Amino acid sequence: MNIILLGPPGAGKGTQARKLVDGRNMIQLSTGDMLRDARSSGTAMGQKVAAIMDAGELVTDEIVIGLIEEKLEGDHGGGFIFDGFPRTLEQADALNDILAKHDASLSHVVAMEVNDKALVQRITARSTCGNCGEVYNDITKPIPADEKCVNCGGSDFKRRADDNEESLRTRLMEYYKKTSPLIGYYHAKGQLVRVPGLGEIDDVAAGIADVLDG
Ligand code: ADP
Ligand code: ZN
Repeated sequence: MNIILLGPPGAGKGTQARKLVDGRNMIQLSTGDMLRDARSSGTAMGQKVAAIMDAGELVTDEIVIGLIEEKLEGDHGGGFIFDGFPRTLEQADALNDILAKHDASLSHVVAMEVNDKALVQRITARSTCGNCGEVYNDITKPIPADEKCVNCGGSDFKRRADDNEESLRTRLMEYYKKTSPLIGYYHAKGQLVRVPGLGEIDDVAAGIADVLDG
């Protein structure tokens, strides 16, 4: 089963992807994570995309399509979760071609619905464990008082350079202009399911489980 998690920045795609990885042995393919890895390992591509990402703009289709193509060469396991990809109609068409080449297809495109006010609150309050990627929120899920990660015990917490109000405004605009048309695209293909993204993490996960199993 291969699925896309679709939604604006802060919708909770990464959080839900991690739950699906744990619960269903799926493989998470996050282009955002791949690009951040390229940056921190200092590759030429990483250096090229750094300023674009920090500003909240999209990197070129060519770069992210290349990243996804590489990953699909590997083992399919319990299926892929595309997280943060595709983000443009061109990327969506490319994904169809890549999947077809591997005799694979999409079973669901899960649109996670969250209002803009909640997105801003979630993102400006967000930090993650630098070791395991566990996501924290200053208000709803603060870092424990002993400053040890609940998942791995690590104590190196990070805030993303693009999790500030200005670049978030750009990220939201990029989403509405370039990514939200994918909702109509996948609806027309009969693959779209809508899931409420507001509320407790486990409730959202239950909503996603219903559509995947239903
Ligand atoms: P979020 O969904 O929280 O905005 P991501 O971690 O998915 O964040 O992406 C961070 C940044 O990486 C984006 O703002 C963009 O610059 C770049 N990026 C990630 N995925 C893509 C993609 N599919 N196409 C273009 N740019 C991307
Ligand atoms: Zn951790």
